[in-house]
Amino acid sequence: MRKEYDFDLFVIGAGSGGVRAGRMAAAKGKKVAIAEVSALGGTCVNVGCVPKKLFVYASQFPELFHASQGYGWNIQQSQSFNWETLRDNKTREITRLNGIYQNLLSNSGAQIIKGRASLEGPQQVSINGESYSAENILIATGGWPYIPEFEGSELAISSNEMFTLEQLPEKAVVVGGGYIAVEFAGILNGLGVKTDLIYRGDRLLKTFDPQCSEKVTEGMIAKGVNVHLNTEVRSISGKENKLSVHLNNGQSLEAGIALYATGRTANTQGLGLENTAIKTQSNGTIIVDDYFKTAETNIYALGDVIDRVQLTPVAIQESMLLLEQLYGENKPRMDYDNIPTAVFSQPELATVGLTEQQARDKYSNIKVYESDFRPMFETLGQGEGRVYIKLIVDSATDRVVGCHMVGEHAAEIIQGIAIAIKAGATKADFDQTMGIHPTVAEELVTLK
Ligand code: FAD
Ligand code: NDP
Repeated sequence: MRKEYDFDLFVIGAGSGGVRAGRMAAAKGKKVAIAEVSALGGTCVNVGCVPKKLFVYASQFPELFHASQGYGWNIQQSQSFNWETLRDNKTREITRLNGIYQNLLSNSGAQIIKGRASLEGPQQVSINGESYSAENILIATGGWPYIPEFEGSELAISSNEMFTLEQLPEKAVVVGGGYIAVEFAGILNGLGVKTDLIYRGDRLLKTFDPQCSEKVTEGMIAKGVNVHLNTEVRSISGKENKLSVHLNNGQSLEAGIALYATGRTANTQGLGLENTAIKTQSNGTIIVDDYFKTAETNIYALGDVIDRVQLTPVAIQESMLLLEQLYGENKPRMDYDNIPTAVFSQPELATVGLTEQQARDKYSNIKVYESDFRPMFETLGQGEGRVYIKLIVDSATDRVVGCHMVGEHAAEIIQGIAIAIKAGATKADFDQTMGIHPTVAEELVTLK
């Protein structure tokens, strides 16, 4: 006889992955609980993608004001920026989204339980002093910012705090060379904060195509960010809002904030993993098989906590595949190839497929097509912006295996190109496609 459980599925974490899994399972008639210790929607909605993109929009206005003059506009009133307005309007929008997530989950029939959940055993979860049994458990607890420990590191803040700053500093130091550091350096600089970006390596965004990271770095410097490569922070002294950041080259930078964007670690503390057979890597990442199963038969994990690709659409897709496996007809495997991604840096970078080096390693012969041009907007706008495009083709099959872009609308354009690449489009297919004129994107179908 089938054992009775309190729930068919107990989801821990109502972020990108957990909400999708919880709501779809409940919509299929399953009895679902979803535990959330903080705000519904997780990192992406509350302290990630969404508020970050709103801040990026805000930070782009000074360049638009400047460009507008070449287009005949005379900006009458003196421009000024009010941080509180942006921060509080952003918070209102996020609160609205939290409500939407609440409705989506409740309307699907999932039971939301607010609080920190912890595993008591392979099929037992405790939360707020109550214990619940579940046929299956999904861990979707995401990640948490990692700040290394050093003298004064307690004075550093993470991206989490950037969304609720009391006031915008006049000067900021940003540490790191990945997505978050580069995005926030652009945001702060655009909002008028004198920004120093400190990176220990010799190339920002080092996992991306080298030409693209160079173009982003050049563009950021042209817009006013002080980029310090091959530089490390030794210590931070001072007090809140009045910091001195001491570098290994002897220089000290004064700043109101020191933002550390030095990666994220799996959110597994206090999760009770020790009460199960679940295994983790040394950095805390939960180990799962190709089907998101942990070392416990009834416990699955996905999203940032398994750290395969830390992106919202990836966590969502992993959830959809898990649901198909648990409650559908098939047992599909996640395809991690050709995942498009964008860095909302200024200038923007977007990419899909292999970098030139990865393509050279994989194929015996490749062709590389490049274009670097001044987009039409800048002619009257009189800005410095440029667009760089690189297309990589496997010579043997003519298939396009990588596309990389820096500049205006890169993310929007690469999303469309990703469909073509996923569908196996060849360079000949690109060439036979009509351009839309006049656009930046038409360059992609006229590359010679
Ligand atoms: P999360 O969204 O982190 O959700 C996990 C949830 O679990 C959280 O709400 C947490 O409070 C909860 N939780 C944790 N432990 C417990 C517990 N014990 N009990 C109950 N609840 C618990 N990705 C993009 O694709 N595009 C972007 O532009 C982008 N920008 C980003 C910007 C920033 C600043 C950051 C930090 C991330 C960004 N990301 C972006 C990454 C994206 O946010 C994550 O990949 C995504 O949120 C991962 O989803 P998840 O479900 O795995 O985890
Ligand atoms: P990343 O992994 O992208 O970058 C971390 C950076 O911190 C690297 O440059 C790394 O340097 C540096 N670093 C690590 N440890 C130290 C240290 N001890 N001292 C100095 N520097 C250090 O992480 P992020 O925090 O920027 O972002 C986390 C993830 O969130 C991203 O990987 C991405 O998946 C996701 N995200 C996605 C976004 C998007 O889609 N637009 C936006 C923001 C985040 P090194 O390279 O030398 O190791």
